[in-house]
Amino acid sequence: MPDNPNDILFERARAVIPGGVNSPVRAFRAVGGTPRFVQRAQGAYFWDAAGQRYIDYIGSWGPMILGHGHPAVVEAVQRAVIDGFSFGAPTEREIELAEAILALLPSMEMIRLVSSGTEAAMSALRLARGATGRKYIIKFEGCYHGHADALLVKAGSGLATFGNPTSAGVPPEVVQHTLVLEYNNLAQLEEAFTLHGQEIAGLMIEAIAGNMNFVRASAAFAKRCRELCTQHGALLIFDEVMTGFRVGLHGAQGVLDVRPDLTVLGKVIGGGMPLAAFGGPRAIMEQLAPLGPVYQAGTLSGNPVATACGLATLKEIAKPGFYESLAAKTRSLVDGLKSAAAAEGQPFSADSEGGMFGFFLLNELPQNYATVMTTDGASFNRLFHGLLDRGVYIAPALYEAGFVSAAHCDDDIAATIEAARQIFRKS
Ligand SMILES: *Cc1c(COP(=O)(O)O)cnc(C)c1O
Repeated sequence: MPDNPNDILFERARAVIPGGVNSPVRAFRAVGGTPRFVQRAQGAYFWDAAGQRYIDYIGSWGPMILGHGHPAVVEAVQRAVIDGFSFGAPTEREIELAEAILALLPSMEMIRLVSSGTEAAMSALRLARGATGRKYIIKFEGCYHGHADALLVKAGSGLATFGNPTSAGVPPEVVQHTLVLEYNNLAQLEEAFTLHGQEIAGLMIEAIAGNMNFVRASAAFAKRCRELCTQHGALLIFDEVMTGFRVGLHGAQGVLDVRPDLTVLGKVIGGGMPLAAFGGPRAIMEQLAPLGPVYQAGTLSGNPVATACGLATLKEIAKPGFYESLAAKTRSLVDGLKSAAAAEGQPFSADSEGGMFGFFLLNELPQNYATVMTTDGASFNRLFHGLLDRGVYIAPALYEAGFVSAAHCDDDIAATIEAARQIFRKS
């Protein structure tokens, strides 16, 4: 019998939940070992079932930008709960959240609230197809847009060919209208529009990609995506589920100064509750039911507790200086890790924007998924477990980004850099 409480829970979990987890990357399959079962969290930390404390650089994969248990957010949620969990009827709070988001993202005139990023991206795609009357979509290798069938696809052989499903249960027919291109590859982008421009409903992109660790679309690439969509009557869809209110108050579209047609949001806008959204210009959004022919619905959409949590979170991050301070802190982490790696002769590169960062055990920042995946898995796993043993929790896979919250203090950052230095020294 194992005696670590995490091992005991993992064994129990595996008996009743596939792999013991409700979302695959949590299972530690890539890095090996036992997932930490979280008992509670506060500020920049969480404690596992064995009572061990970790500095948390996942923050629920991005939403916890204020840290765990921010008092103003907790209070808003507690108040909301007293008034009811769910009504299946409209509330004033949904309008307030819609207004708050639209005020910060001027590319959107209307927004619809849903419950998960997957749902938001899937709905945005349907809307793009419905609004344009076209069926083809473009996505990029390494970008993740949730697990809707049409988006679980990887590149086929050859340039600008249609993709192959990446999951069993997705018939090839379902992804036959999804073109998968290499990120930051201008030539492929041009070719795709030359070949299929008149049939493309939308191009969906993480303009700062956080699902292949951290890879930026170059300014030229993002600009060309915008131009080609405009020229060919396709909709440019920014999936900002991760970057929205994470890389800055105006998202990746603010950082890159590119105006998408549709924006997909999630993670931070719910402050840790199940809440996501998609939005865009009025004329496109009015194609949605009940006004238009594109169907979309949700029993728990605009949930009153989730919207209270999201609103309270947005109120905090909209305060002056919030992102300057968060970005400086994140940069100090990234710079410290770079210096530690350089001092120990460890190949290393890193980047950050706002409260999101990525690092690679590679000499140069990669520009696409294939390069990210050239990282040596064994070296990453050594780093991951070394950090975990030292009370630092980063994503258990080398293709995931990291997140700093407003609750992380200078001592947390310094302790993290020191832990990494010790591991680099040993290897
Ligand atoms: C997390 C994520 C999603 C999926 O959101 P879920 O809430 O997990 O369904 C979609 N797109 C991007 C860019 C994400 O990071």
